[in-house]
Amino acid sequence: MANTLVYLLDNKIYINLTNRCTNNCIFCLRNDKDDVCGQELWLDSEDFSAEDVISQFRSVLNKAGDDFKNEAVFCGYGEPMLKLDILKNVALFIKQNYPQIKTRINTNGHANFVYKRNVAPELVGLIDEISVSLNAPTSQEYNELSNPKFDNAYDEVKNFIKSCSDAGIKTVTSIVENYKGRHLDIEACEKISNDLGAKLRVREWIPNGYS
Ligand code: SF4
Repeated sequence: MANTLVYLLDNKIYINLTNRCTNNCIFCLRNDKDDVCGQELWLDSEDFSAEDVISQFRSVLNKAGDDFKNEAVFCGYGEPMLKLDILKNVALFIKQNYPQIKTRINTNGHANFVYKRNVAPELVGLIDEISVSLNAPTSQEYNELSNPKFDNAYDEVKNFIKSCSDAGIKTVTSIVENYKGRHLDIEACEKISNDLGAKLRVREWIPNGYS
């Protein structure tokens, strides 16, 4: 079966760059499903190039109808910023060829830890909006919910949010509220987000997905 690197959902293009992740969230869709709305998102191979992604992007865009919302989102079954070079090359291709298409990354916010540098300035001009999974109001809750694979991940996430907003990229944070009846302190998450220069988005958990 061919790798689904690019797919259309809700009239937006989604770009699925990897199945790897530095978290193991208890609410991750990967734990429950093999597909999102019929798209098989487990990759047969992680060995592909930006050109492979661009080729699928062109083909999906050609098939998109008049209702296409001119938005491309780097988001799939894994952490897209683990494929940073490919992500930047694909975003550059989109911006150079389809400047009307808005680009967004949904990320766990670990990239600066992974690459040991501030990568946010590298996204300026390529990415219009970045949505970072804050996931919790405290480090302890973050660890319970996200099971990060390294220490001090919550501080890394908060620092990354600030780096993105400082770079002038529209920055949104997200939490998954009401996961199996578990409630988060939304006000605290909102204050943390605002203090870091971002706006909080609350995603309501529903079985097999989020709103
Ligand atoms: S950060 Fe995203 S992809 Fe990674 S485990 Fe959590 S929900 Fe899944």
